[in-house]
This record gives sequence, structure tokens and C-alpha cells, in this order.
Amino acid sequence: MDGIQVLTLIGSVILALVALAALFLLPRISRPAGKGLLVLGVLVALGTAWTTGSQALTPAAQTGWALSTPSEAPRPADFVDARSLDKTIQVELRYATTNNFTGEKVDGYESSDVVILQEDAAAALAAVQEELAASNLGLLVYDAYRPTTAVEFFQAWSQNPDDSTKAEYYPTFEKPQLFELGYIADHSKHSLGGTVDLTIIDLTTGSPLDMGGPFDFFGERSHYDAEGLSAEQTENRALLREVMTAHGFEPYEMEWWHFTYPLTDAVAQSFPVR
Ligand SMILES: [Zn+2]
Repeated sequence: MDGIQVLTLIGSVILALVALAALFLLPRISRPAGKGLLVLGVLVALGTAWTTGSQALTPAAQTGWALSTPSEAPRPADFVDARSLDKTIQVELRYATTNNFTGEKVDGYESSDVVILQEDAAAALAAVQEELAASNLGLLVYDAYRPTTAVEFFQAWSQNPDDSTKAEYYPTFEKPQLFELGYIADHSKHSLGGTVDLTIIDLTTGSPLDMGGPFDFFGERSHYDAEGLSAEQTENRALLREVMTAHGFEPYEMEWWHFTYPLTDAVAQSFPVR
């Protein structure tokens, strides 16, 4: 129960007590109309107290823990869908589905098949795709532009005691550590429009190359130079890094899948992904 729920509960208890105390006035009122009004007032007050009190007592997990409201901010003119530049770029926006570390569809993701990026980053990504195609390879994007509403959603998630995705995504950590250690950021570069999470797929089979660990696994296995990788996994990570950096993206040591195209004067955005 959070602070607001506790205050609501105290408020509804006080309202109920005042309403009951008012009933003691009943014998002192002589006019029938006055008695009727008093009884009506008491009933309304008790009803309100009951409704707000029971809402406050409902566990947060049942009412959902997303605190943010959908943003209707407009998409800036220089943000585009990279798939409008190259529709062969494959996409599986995980946060638009329940298949992600929160186990929920994330606030701000209304479409699962777009790759929204600032136009320079989008053009660079299309160039990566073109280069890979020569080797019968292509990109599979897991996340691109991420609204600030989604980052707030992650923060709310980290404060919820539910641990149902721990075994799959963060077996060795507790939720707050994911922020402290840099796996999830309070202010994500993804919100600026230049950052992508992605892997390489084989165009013949459509399957992702073996990178030695899944997207959004929070642990050492995801570090670029993690110990225990096979020669093939090391090679695949190196290939992804090589082709991305060749087109201006900067890698991230903590996560083999995360790359940032540096943008000057970029501002965090909150418009929805659609
Ligand atoms: Zn990322």
C-alpha cells in the first residue's frame, strides 16, 4: 500500500465516523424534512467511505502498477520509421508485447512493427541493413525509440514486489540493482531517438545468430566480452559490433545488443510508438 492509499483509507474511515456521529443528532431534529436530509447525507457519506476505503485496500498488483498516463505529445518531424527506408529490417518490439522483463505490455508502445528513430540514426540503420544483405544477413530490432512514459513504467515496475520474471531475466539481482548497475536507466538514451537494441538474423532461415545470451538478460552473460562464450558466439557479437560501428553507432559494454547513434542537442521524447 502506498502513501496515497493510506491517506485515502484514513480519510474514508474519518468520513464514516463523522457520518455515524451525525446519526446521534437525529432525535434532536423535530422537522421530518430535516430528518430525511440528515439520513440521506449519512447514507451518501457511508457509501463514499465504503467505495474509497475498499479501493485503497485493493492490492496494487490487481489494479495495475502503471502510474503514467498515455502521452499525446506529437512525433517530431525528424523522427521516422526506419522500415519506411528499408522494409526488409525485421522488428519484434518486445515492449509492445508481454514478452519482456516486465511481463507486461509497456506504456507508450502502441505498435509492435515499427522502428522509430531520429532520421539520421534511421538512415545509418538502413545502411547497416544494406551491408548485411550482401552476406545474406539482416537486422532484427528489439527496441528503438523509447518514450519517457515507458521509462517511468520500468521505474514503477522496479518498485513492485512481483518477481515473476526474475528467473528468466535477472536471476542474480534484485530489481533496484538493475538501475544501480546500469541495465535499466532512469533517463534512457533510447528516448532521444538514436539508440537501438538489435541482433542479426540469417535471411535464409530467418533465425537470429547465436549471440550466447538473450536480449534483455540482466547479467554478466550479456556483457560484450562475457566469459564462457563459444568462438562462434564471440564472432557473431564482433560482427554485429563491427557493422554497427562502421555506420556511426557506438556500442555498450554491458549489453551486446545496445547501440547508440550520437545525436547533438537531442531531447528526450514522450510521444507514443505507433
Ligand atoms: Zn538498449
